[in-house]
Amino acid sequence: MITLPDHLEVHDDRFLSLVHPMSQLDQIATGFTWTEGPVWFGDHQCLIFSDIPSQRLMRWSEAEGLTTFRHPSGFNNGNTRDHLGRLIGCRHGARDVVRTEMNGSLTVLADSFDGKRLNSPNDVVVSRDGAIWFTDPTYGIISNFEGYRAAPEQETRNVYRIAPTGELTAVVRDFAQPNGLCFSPDENTLYIAESGSSHDAAVPAVIRKFAVEGATLTDLGAFATIDRGLPDGIRCDTSGNLWSSAADGVHCFAPDGTLLGKILVPEVVSNLAFGGPDGRRLHITATTSVYRVFVDAFGAEPWTRPSVNG
Ligand code: MG
Repeated sequence: MITLPDHLEVHDDRFLSLVHPMSQLDQIATGFTWTEGPVWFGDHQCLIFSDIPSQRLMRWSEAEGLTTFRHPSGFNNGNTRDHLGRLIGCRHGARDVVRTEMNGSLTVLADSFDGKRLNSPNDVVVSRDGAIWFTDPTYGIISNFEGYRAAPEQETRNVYRIAPTGELTAVVRDFAQPNGLCFSPDENTLYIAESGSSHDAAVPAVIRKFAVEGATLTDLGAFATIDRGLPDGIRCDTSGNLWSSAADGVHCFAPDGTLLGKILVPEVVSNLAFGGPDGRRLHITATTSVYRVFVDAFGAEPWTRPSVNG
C-alpha cells in the first residue's frame, strides 16, 4: 500500500500514474491578494502571473525569485502565449485583450463588439490556426476590486474568437459567466468553465464541452461538474486529461469526464499552468499565493514542453 502525501486525493487508480507519492506541494510565492493568469516561459525559465487587485504582473524564476514584470497592469487577469511566444493578456481595466510585442509595446487586439465595450475579458487561449479565443464575463466591472465598476454594455456574457485576420465574432452567447477555457490536444474540443454560480447558486458549476470546426462551436453539453466551489482556469495535458481549478484545489478529469483525483491546495485555486524545467510541473495560482507541484504529465500547449522550448 502506497502512502500518499496529504495533498493528493485519489478517486480513480489512473490518477496514480499522473502524480507521485514523493511529490510536494511547494508554495513558491505569497503575499498577494488574488493571483491569476499563470503562464510558463520555457525560453526564460520563468512563470508570469497576475495579482489582479494590486495591478501587478509578476515574474518568478528558480534562479531569480520574484520580481515585478509590469505595474500597473491594468488589472490584467488571464494570460497565454501565441505561436511566436508573445504574451497575450486580458485586462479588466481597459476591458480589452492585448498582446505584448517583443519590444515591450502593447497592441490592443479587441476591446468592443457590436460597437459596445466588452465586459471584462477574463481568460484566453490561442489555437493552432492563430485564432485567439477569450471569455468576457462581468467580474472586472461588478465592483472596483479588480477593475472599475460599470454597467455592462453587452447584453450577454460571450465567448469570442479573434480570427487571424483580426475579425471578432461571438461564438457562444448563453453562459451566465464564462471563465477559463482550453483545447483538447487535437483541438477538436474546446472546454469552457461556467463560473456563474459565484453570483447565482442556481447556475451549475460545470465545465462545458464544444466540438470545434474552424470558427464554429457545437455545444456537446456538460463535461464535468466541480463539487467544491466553481471552475475558473482549466488546462488539458497531452493525454487529454483536463485539470481544473476548484475551491479545494485542482481536480483532474479523464477525457470521458471521470474525476481521477485532486491536488488539494490550502487556498482557493483560480488557475493553473504546466511548465517547469522538464515540463512536468503544475503551477497553481491560489488566492494569496502560487504553488508548484510535480505531475507526470505534460501540458497540451506545445510551448509548455521543453522539447519545444529547448
Ligand atoms: Mg478566470
